[in-house]
Amino acid sequence: MSRPIEIPLAVPVVGPAEARNLQACIDTGFVSSVGEFVTELERKVAASTGALSGVATSAGTTGLHAALTTVGVGRDDLVVTPSFTFIASANAISHCGATPWLMDIDGNWTLDLDQVERELETSTQRDGGALVHRPSGRRVAALMPVYTLGNLCDPRRLREIATRFALPIVADAAAAIGASWQGRPLNEGADLSVISFNGNKTVTAGGGGMIVGDNAELMNLARHLTTTARVSSDYSHDRVGFNYRMTNLQAAVGCAQMEQLPAFIAAKRRIRQRYREGLDDMAGLEFFPGADDGSSCWFSGVVLNHPSLPSARDIADSLRHQGIEARTFWKPVHLQTPYSQVPRADLKSCEGLWQRVLTLPCSTNLTDDQQDRVISALRATLNVPAGG
Ligand SMILES: *Cc1c(COP(=O)(O)O)cnc(C)c1O
Repeated sequence: MSRPIEIPLAVPVVGPAEARNLQACIDTGFVSSVGEFVTELERKVAASTGALSGVATSAGTTGLHAALTTVGVGRDDLVVTPSFTFIASANAISHCGATPWLMDIDGNWTLDLDQVERELETSTQRDGGALVHRPSGRRVAALMPVYTLGNLCDPRRLREIATRFALPIVADAAAAIGASWQGRPLNEGADLSVISFNGNKTVTAGGGGMIVGDNAELMNLARHLTTTARVSSDYSHDRVGFNYRMTNLQAAVGCAQMEQLPAFIAAKRRIRQRYREGLDDMAGLEFFPGADDGSSCWFSGVVLNHPSLPSARDIADSLRHQGIEARTFWKPVHLQTPYSQVPRADLKSCEGLWQRVLTLPCSTNLTDDQQDRVISALRATLNVPAGG
């Protein structure tokens, strides 16, 4: 039997402000998918990303599905995305009837844009208006970068490639709220970007998501699709739409959380920095990339970079016995059963990386004392030989 978790990995931090907003929903009766908090959250989140507008959704995953559908991704298409991501990115593509075309990651753990450009150059051809992937004969319909841990991709490079191959960009920005790229806002890298408010994200609404963007036509279509494609109040609908709306109850929590966004991001960055300071002298450890470029530092942890170190799983088990929740990180999409046969480029970097990543406690309310306990426990564990 292991000890109960005393220092969790990443938990929501909620309090009286969230309670007040929830009480306001009860008092006014606006508990469902229409309400002032939904509108307010759309405004707040769009503004925080530099976008003109937002459409709230029931989850990040459903937001991605709706956003991909909005830019025209459909049956039998391919969507370029990294293999090193949470499986929801690939699932959203599959929900469109499309298939991910998996690419590798760069040193920032985001889509390797040089490889993407090379693959598009060498493996596709124009056929009428469509860009066709020669080996499969399928149309390439969109680029979907993933802003891993809140690390954005270079927006100028992304746009350059998208323009060159006439592809729309939908960014999986699920964990990237509060992120920027060398001072440029999140929204700039894509036509539509999708944020998640799941419980383990930096800002939560209990659950939910948000599509943000600047293009009014796309944003109107996104709203239309997420609200059953209704054209009038007499049950007329002009497409197969989705019921992907966020409730006012979720948005009430989200609005209270957004007041804390600067404080939450500062806490995440500080935690990242303190792990580095506390562990920098340990041989064979590396740290997560991106902080210098404006990462929102959603998760923190270490990369085990020496064969003599125990495995991430063994270290996580050992920390768990000490009441500390640490975890391994994403298993790449191409190693998942439903995606073992999809088209893919060379995935050397992600194959070399994923088993060496260990995520450490990084809730926004983590105290210095708690973090120091994690650092000491990890130091002690790493001095034990593998299997010891
Ligand atoms: C959290 C996450 C999602 C899924 O968001 P949900 O709101 O849980 O559906 C998708 N992609 C990435 C990269 C995520 O981190």
